[in-house]
Amino acid sequence: MKTIMLFPLIMITLMTSAHSETDPDLPPAAYDHAFPGEIVLTELSTEPRVRKICQAFGADILPGGTVLACGFAIRGKCFIFTLSDADLKAYGHEPRNVMRHERAHCNGWIHEPRVQPRIEFPK
Ligand SMILES: [Zn+2]
Repeated sequence: MKTIMLFPLIMITLMTSAHSETDPDLPPAAYDHAFPGEIVLTELSTEPRVRKICQAFGADILPGGTVLACGFAIRGKCFIFTLSDADLKAYGHEPRNVMRHERAHCNGWIHEPRVQPRIEFPK
């Protein structure tokens, strides 16, 4: 049985408006490639719902952190839970980069949990 790998993408408070290839959310090149299996993408309507399901799958989420998405591989499939593109943008994230981040987790990428202070919700 494969190990479940689950890592949340946590909101960065001091986000710059421009996202480029230097975006700290982007994974290392070694993990930034197509997933060799099915990707099951689930879009959820609110951040609390993303948080709840990511926690239910074992994500290590810090109190006060905002969870925009999480991704993990189970039995050769990549499961990604995320907010809508519009909501990701409202939180200051480029949806394409969020997908690359979570897909990289399915490809085995592990990064340190980010400690983040409380953030303001988008208007
Ligand atoms: Zn992550």
